[in-house]
Amino acid sequence: MNTQDFSLRHIGTLSHDADEMLSVIGKNSIDELIDATIPADIRFEKPLQLPDALSEYEILQHLQQLAENNKKARSFIGYGYYRTILPSPIQRNILENPGWYTAYTPYQAEIAQGRLEALLNYQTVVSDLAGLPIANASLLDEATACAEAMHMVREARSRNKKDANKFFIADDVLPQSLAVCETKASGLGIEIVTGNPLEFDFDENFFGALLQYPGRSGQIIDYTDLISSLNSKGIKVTVAADLLALTLLKSPGEMGADIAVGTSQRFGVPMGYGGPHAAFMACTEEYKRVIPGRIIGVSQDRYGKFALRMALQTREQHIKRERATSNICTAQVLLAVMAGMYAVYHGKDGLQFIAQNVHQKAVRLYDALNELGYKTIHNNFFDTVQIEAEGIAKGKFESNQILLNFFEDGKISIALDEVTSEDELNKLIQVFADIKGKSIDKVEFSEAKIPASLVRTSDFLMNDVFKSYHTETELMRYIKRLERKDLALNHSMIALGSCTMKLNAATEMLPLSWAGFNTVHPFVPKEFAAGYQEMIENLENYLSEITGFAATSVQQNSGAQGEYAGLMVIRSYQIDNGEAHRNVVIIPESAHGTNPASAAMAGMKVVVVKNLPTGETDIEDLKAKLEIHKENLSALMITYPSTYGAFDANIKEVTDLVHAAGGQVYMDGANMNAQVGLTAPGMIGADVCHLNLHKTFAIPHGGGGPGVGPICVASHLAPYLGSHPLIETGGEKSDTVYSAAPYGSSLILLISYSYIRMLGEKGLTNSTKHAILNANYLKSRLEKYYDVLYTNENNVVAHEFILDFRPFKKLGIEVSDIAKRLMDYGFHAPTVSFPVAGTLMIEPTESEGKAELDRFADALIQIKNEIDEVANGDFEQDNNVLKNAPHPLDLLTADEWNFPYSRQKAAYPLEWVMDRKFFPPVSRIDDAFGDRNLICTCPSVESYVTE
Ligand SMILES: *Cc1c(COP(=O)(O)O)cnc(C)c1O
Repeated sequence: MNTQDFSLRHIGTLSHDADEMLSVIGKNSIDELIDATIPADIRFEKPLQLPDALSEYEILQHLQQLAENNKKARSFIGYGYYRTILPSPIQRNILENPGWYTAYTPYQAEIAQGRLEALLNYQTVVSDLAGLPIANASLLDEATACAEAMHMVREARSRNKKDANKFFIADDVLPQSLAVCETKASGLGIEIVTGNPLEFDFDENFFGALLQYPGRSGQIIDYTDLISSLNSKGIKVTVAADLLALTLLKSPGEMGADIAVGTSQRFGVPMGYGGPHAAFMACTEEYKRVIPGRIIGVSQDRYGKFALRMALQTREQHIKRERATSNICTAQVLLAVMAGMYAVYHGKDGLQFIAQNVHQKAVRLYDALNELGYKTIHNNFFDTVQIEAEGIAKGKFESNQILLNFFEDGKISIALDEVTSEDELNKLIQVFADIKGKSIDKVEFSEAKIPASLVRTSDFLMNDVFKSYHTETELMRYIKRLERKDLALNHSMIALGSCTMKLNAATEMLPLSWAGFNTVHPFVPKEFAAGYQEMIENLENYLSEITGFAATSVQQNSGAQGEYAGLMVIRSYQIDNGEAHRNVVIIPESAHGTNPASAAMAGMKVVVVKNLPTGETDIEDLKAKLEIHKENLSALMITYPSTYGAFDANIKEVTDLVHAAGGQVYMDGANMNAQVGLTAPGMIGADVCHLNLHKTFAIPHGGGGPGVGPICVASHLAPYLGSHPLIETGGEKSDTVYSAAPYGSSLILLISYSYIRMLGEKGLTNSTKHAILNANYLKSRLEKYYDVLYTNENNVVAHEFILDFRPFKKLGIEVSDIAKRLMDYGFHAPTVSFPVAGTLMIEPTESEGKAELDRFADALIQIKNEIDEVANGDFEQDNNVLKNAPHPLDLLTADEWNFPYSRQKAAYPLEWVMDRKFFPPVSRIDDAFGDRNLICTCPSVESYVTE
């Protein structure tokens, strides 16, 4: 065995066991299985053209070289991205720890209490600093957070504002935020007006306004009076704010703002050439039911023990489908956890110390520049000094490896940060002195440049959690304590259908910690990021090859953003062709909730097409809908293989019909793990698809993000791929922007890049084959016990399949009881009730070996025995191991045991569970309890009273 071959490390059943599994399935070879799975007319005829596979050692050498090709520079560019110091215990114990980064979104709250607590801390940080009561558990980036706020305020506008359609954006809002808002506004039909808010004459047609604090020039302005005057006109104000500055400044809430947004990047999260970072949104109570993203809320378990879970909002957004006001699904959980932990580690005093230090250095720079005769533009600032650029050339600084912000005409701004040292400050001042041919003595701190009216007087981070973990020993143990409450991929397989929880290899993750990659500012001149440029260009080419398309853009920070961008690209193309009236998107009823939500965001009208009982698109219904809507048809959005886990045989007919009616075909690529190397969106007749790099291409889920949602397009759409206001990228005809950074979350692109380079064509194709093998093996083992929905005409499934639990409803057993009982066996539930209510969708992925697949099957089979015991009347319908699951340790070890089954049956239902036991920290969580009273910040112990 060539142990240098990464595919042997990545694929669980490559070297052995496959034959035995095939015999269980009833196939002679894996190719026979694949032929029975994928329709012949859409199969690749030749292998993908990709570079030869590298070993793990070789890819690290290669990436080291790329890292060196990124020029070292000190960045003072600012504009929403700052150098920051990631505390080592957070780097080692969270960022580099699979216990944190391989976790899934905390839908199964009983085995996610650790990350839920970390996110509640994050929400508390945001809420306290913003001075607003409600905060969510992250958004994708600051620019999209601004756009989400704009959309939210418009949807929630009061009755007397129903016709107001203008949104004001202050002229010192960051350019990337303005650009993303403009794109979003164009889809939604909102009119954006920019100007100086202090001089602007607002009429009744404005529903909202966005201000930046500090502004992009660095200036801080007290907006209290302005906001009060806007509020009196019914105009809701969103303030984009800097969290570190807020430790010293009056909060947006205290200024009267309804909403605050921003990024938490500078709370210890490296710049990474653009991301990933967690953005935040905080708001007044008025918006608590419409705020986008997820909110972590306080509740209790069924015995009254304190417990956390995701509060109602997400589910509400998804159920709304085309009436949703946000399409966000994957967010930035891992980064929110890190930023929250940064606040836990530093506490209020530590954060203020850091902020004071940054401010004092900025003041010293300001004084020095004035003394040297430069003209400073404003006198009130936190960390950014702006001067007139006259006579100052960029090259002078670049040759000293110093990058300043030259983006505004005739001005230069210099943003200081936590990393700025004495040496660095002196060097910077020296370059300015040299330009003037002067010398300057050591500059002392003169006086703060924060006006008295803006000095923060309100408290923040008063909960114990922000006071208790300031030594490394305490922090290390706190992080470990939380980690132990969570079940992640480092414990057992997580067979989440549609979410593809595969191996996130250590080799793929290592380079994220390298300074050569993670310290690069997203707006550096391209020659300062040559290593990144090369990697991104290669990756885009590989993804185009894999999808059978002409071009790729990696800018979008999630799958749902990819959907939205893909539809906007179609829209741009159609507008350019004089077909602006095309605004209907046809979506199968089986589609993921983000599909109709994204279509609505792109300003499209959603028409639903039925699925046949076999799961395929109902051709007759499609023809009827095309006939009605062909005049205005924009696109069909379809998932392939379908969300039911089968390769529909009629896919070509479907895409041909749509093209014949003048529409474009959008393919949701969440199920790409069943296609890579065997077929491609380009083969089935799609024009554009998105990929979820955090599903198919090995980026870890991070507990609910980060993600990357590239879109890949046919040549006619390539000119419209997303661009950026500061760094040239995207298509030549593009005027749309989807993310704050030109290449989105560049740092984690390294993971997918390494994944592709280490597997190569053969390894990627084998991954797909073995993903299909594993799914069919599990299906074959389980179909004797449960009904499998949706197989194709050869009775095989793709890379996932659906088990039906509805037949047990008559015994009082719900699919959620199965999900909770699996926890007692040490497993995370598969996808619950998507795309069919009352079912589990199981996707084992290629990374699992036969032994783990067998344990998972054994668990589900034993659960069937437990169901039979209820059916036989051995146990009451409302008092059995399923209904009472999960069984936490304190319940199992209590002196009292009043259940009609033994402790052993509850805790160790199969022998091997003994060695692999995971004890859920709480019992079944009472969702209704938390829904009645939404608490989304850390409660002090006294204020939390049980009913
Ligand atoms: C995961 C998923 C999405 C959404 O992707 P995010 O990255 O979470 O935004 C869309 N469609 C399907 C079918 C999915 O499984």
